[in-house]
Amino acid sequence: MTAATVSSFSIVFICLLFGIALLAAWQAFGLKRYAMLWALSFIAAAVGHGMRIGTPLVWPAAVPFFAMLACHTSVASFTLLAAGFRSRAQRSHWLVTLLWLVSTLLLLGFWILDVDGWRTSLRIITGLADAAMIAVIIATLGNRGLRVLLVQALLAIYGLYAASVGLAAWLAKSGGTAGESFFVMVLSIGTPTGMIGTGVMTLLMVSADLARDLREQAIRDPLTGLLNRRGLEERIGELHRRSGSRHPTIVALADLDRFKAINDRLGHAVGDAVLQRFARLLEERFGTLGPVARIGGEEFVLLLPDVPLSEARRRIEALHAEIPASFPDIATDHPVTASFGLTEHAEGEAFQQALSRADAALYRSKAAGRNWVTYLDRASQAAE
Ligand code: GH3
Ligand code: MG
Ligand code: MG
Repeated sequence: MTAATVSSFSIVFICLLFGIALLAAWQAFGLKRYAMLWALSFIAAAVGHGMRIGTPLVWPAAVPFFAMLACHTSVASFTLLAAGFRSRAQRSHWLVTLLWLVSTLLLLGFWILDVDGWRTSLRIITGLADAAMIAVIIATLGNRGLRVLLVQALLAIYGLYAASVGLAAWLAKSGGTAGESFFVMVLSIGTPTGMIGTGVMTLLMVSADLARDLREQAIRDPLTGLLNRRGLEERIGELHRRSGSRHPTIVALADLDRFKAINDRLGHAVGDAVLQRFARLLEERFGTLGPVARIGGEEFVLLLPDVPLSEARRRIEALHAEIPASFPDIATDHPVTASFGLTEHAEGEAFQQALSRADAALYRSKAAGRNWVTYLDRASQAAE
């Protein structure tokens, strides 16, 4: 057994390993389609290389046919890899599909028409198609900083290597065993490294995406998609560390009025829909100005880190006024309204203190008959 054959077996093994690992990751974590596409890409590569090295051992007469199929699986493998990257970036698949279609038709055409030296032509087409798919991946990753640039540079080397496999086929075209073994040698030099590199990269990307999704879930309220209490605390920490704000942070609490009655009369599902729509309204009006969170059943927090007090009050008053008209279909005895309490986070004060002052302000709005906005500053609270 030559070193090239050993290396070919290792390619099949590596591809299967990554294919199964990605398939398991996709299944176990309910991951997106791209993990499945990547898994299929590695499995296709394993099948292709398996055919290439297995056929001469078990069915020598069929070697040319399986060599043709191996070219198809190689292109399919890189197509699936590129399709996974397109899916992950939520980009269209037309270029990948077109490239695949053109390469497949060329491969079939050369084989069916039995063009002189078709095997060499097929290998050149395959090398170029594989390289083109890698180019699509590089373009799909886009311009996103040094880390991605490094990945793109490594992928570019892999792409050049894929193209050079085509070149090796052309150089080996004189035929004979020497020519064939030269081609297999070139194929065996870079393919395991390339496969391990892409395998590790795709697995790392899948696990990084998974970690990001889990983190996102931990800080988000599933009903409204707003930050939850934990997410809010994180953002407060970030705001604390960030300096340079010209104004004290405005802390506002909002609580839907007599929400229990909405649930009781119209059902919990309608209650949920009201919470979702109210969350959307808050996000539309304040999402660009600072974090918006749902910290209790029907209790929400707005933080406005860099908005002058007068403007914050004006905006909150405006939102307060538009709430009833935003829920014309929720007809109980009372229109949908909310009460607000707001304050400023004073310099040197613990954030929790500002939050409890906003809560005291909210309580006053409730005590005043609800559907009200109360502002409370540190001095007037202290004076009481
Ligand atoms: P107030 O004007 O004093 O705020 O009265 P309220 O009825 O709005 O407040 P209360 O605290 O008495 O009731 C809050 C209700 O919110 C009770 C609870 O069933 C409901 N609630 C809490 N979480 C959810 C949720 O996720 N979905 C729905 N539909 N209802 C919820
Ligand atoms: Mg309420
Ligand atoms: Mg409440």
